Amino acid sequence: MNTQTHGVAPLSEAELLDLEALLRARRTELEEDGARIEEALEAVRVAREDSTTDDEHDPEGPTLTNEWSRLSGLRDDLAPKLATVDGALAKIAAGTYGICTRDGAPIGAARLEARPEAELCIHCARELEARR
Ligand SMILES: [Zn+2]
Repeated sequence: MNTQTHGVAPLSEAELLDLEALLRARRTELEEDGARIEEALEAVRVAREDSTTDDEHDPEGPTLTNEWSRLSGLRDDLAPKLATVDGALAKIAAGTYGICTRDGAPIGAARLEARPEAELCIHCARELEARR
């Protein structure tokens, strides 16, 4: 077996630990964002209930509806981001992190520090980009 490396070094133990810390920090951030969004959604839900029971003529209705859609959109965006981070963490656990899923080449510490969730080495990423 002669795996293409594109001259990129595999991750060192220290680099792997750094990237794992980076991914965990990102996961915490996403969870905190999620909690904030849930709180805001709850506030909108309560405000909507109040405004419909208190006042049939509801000047705030459309504003609350817009806010609700905005927040739901943000919440829906979070799930795939979390899944990506979890996927990367699972790969670290499995020992397959930092290896291109297309050609098995090392992705490289520099690229992973910029994009810790990257699954393709820069060569494959460029090739696929060029094909679009
Ligand atoms: Zn590759």
